Amino acid sequence: MHISDFRKFLRCPKMYQLSLKDNKRGFPFLNIDIDIDESIKNKFKIDNCYTGIANEDNEDSFKAMEQYQWLLKPRFSYRYLRVRVPLMHKNEDKWDLYFTTLSTCPQEDEAMNIRWTVDVLNKAKISIGRIYLVYLNKNYVREGELDDDQLWLVTDCFLNGNGHPSKDIIKYISNINIDIDITIDNMLHFDGDYYDITRSNRCTGRKKCQYYDLCFPDEKLMEDNSILHLTNSQYKYTMYQEGVKYLSQVDLEKLEGTAQQYAQVMADRQGGLFIDKLALKNWMNNNIHYPLSYIDFEWDLHAIPPYEKMSPMQVLCFEYSLDVVTQDGRITHHQYIGEGDCRKEFIEHMLRELPKEGTILAYNAKGAEVLRVRELMKAFPEYTEELEDVCRRFVDLSVPFLSGMVYDTRMRGLYSLKIIKGVINDKVSYHDLDVENGLDAVSVYRKLLKEKNLETKKQYYEDLYKYCGMDSYTMIEVISWLRSLIT
Ligand code: SF4
Repeated sequence: MHISDFRKFLRCPKMYQLSLKDNKRGFPFLNIDIDIDESIKNKFKIDNCYTGIANEDNEDSFKAMEQYQWLLKPRFSYRYLRVRVPLMHKNEDKWDLYFTTLSTCPQEDEAMNIRWTVDVLNKAKISIGRIYLVYLNKNYVREGELDDDQLWLVTDCFLNGNGHPSKDIIKYISNINIDIDITIDNMLHFDGDYYDITRSNRCTGRKKCQYYDLCFPDEKLMEDNSILHLTNSQYKYTMYQEGVKYLSQVDLEKLEGTAQQYAQVMADRQGGLFIDKLALKNWMNNNIHYPLSYIDFEWDLHAIPPYEKMSPMQVLCFEYSLDVVTQDGRITHHQYIGEGDCRKEFIEHMLRELPKEGTILAYNAKGAEVLRVRELMKAFPEYTEELEDVCRRFVDLSVPFLSGMVYDTRMRGLYSLKIIKGVINDKVSYHDLDVENGLDAVSVYRKLLKEKNLETKKQYYEDLYKYCGMDSYTMIEVISWLRSLIT
């Protein structure tokens, strides 16, 4: 057992059981293209340390503790639980622990990981000194070679949402009311076949459980107007268990009262589609000005800045697709993919191809494309004036949906561009493409960068162009659909 198993078990025993049979590894969406161990060693100026290897036991680590002051990734175990300490340092007669995290703001959600590790070390009678978190410095901007000292920060507190130290790590983990022996016993004796699974917020809260479809296969067959598609509702499962099956039957007292929920309930009451015509008309009149530029970016998220003027956990835009539509209905398509540090080229291409006036539309523009353009502007201030103008003209196409102006029950409580495409035109689907979603795009792009065979590389380019092109073209369809709803 590893700590990840404990985490799953405590969130839901069934999740733990299902994960034991699941060999699939998730796609590493974070691009980590440096040797983190070396970087950490540089940070602490460690020139002599012991590096643990998989499947070692306590005895191996104890021997290393006798010979070394620094231990990198030593392994320890207690009963069935195996842990790996990122870094240990001998400090007089105690051992200080350093937990590395690829986060720029480590908060209490790191606590369980630390607590289990400390429990295992306590069982092994290791005397623990201070406990630190080693995390990424969000204010570090790479200049030339990577500066490992600047890249990492060290704290003995969890940080708050503003990035300031808040709770002492040792005090916080000591107050967690959990017992390692009881948890291991519960895991050993858990029989998932008799476990009663019921839908609850643990299945959908924060991040939807990856086994949701497995646990509730019937949900896919549920009608579009099922109450289970109600968004951001803490009572929908209770209402469902009480016999409320459809959106139209919802007890209004049990709604949080968001505009999205109102639109969902009204859509069901009105036969499947709700349109706030006045709001939508106003939004269109105020925001849609020709020529219309529909743009979609693709990017890769880098934990460690690979190039100058980049910071930790920053993205690198590598592709865009742009469709420009004039008032007489002519469409001009542009596309771009860059390799390596293509940021400057990306900016110049985009500024050349974007019209100097009119609305620029992107789905979720405010949370994605506008942020990306601002990051580019910060790295290349010489383009500030033109990029500021681009930001000013961006309009977020998700607004009519997310703010409850339009809801079609076929959206089934989901608001992505892909879902909306399925509602307005299901003849061509993203499932017909080799690259179906953003993570696929990143995966193909990473392969493209390494590919030596020109034919294969060309195919990767085409796959990426098709996928991103589908996004920009779908936005054209969305605007014409919205227009049809108010005329
Ligand atoms: S969907 Fe819910 S019940 Fe099923 S494994 Fe996930 S959290 Fe547990």
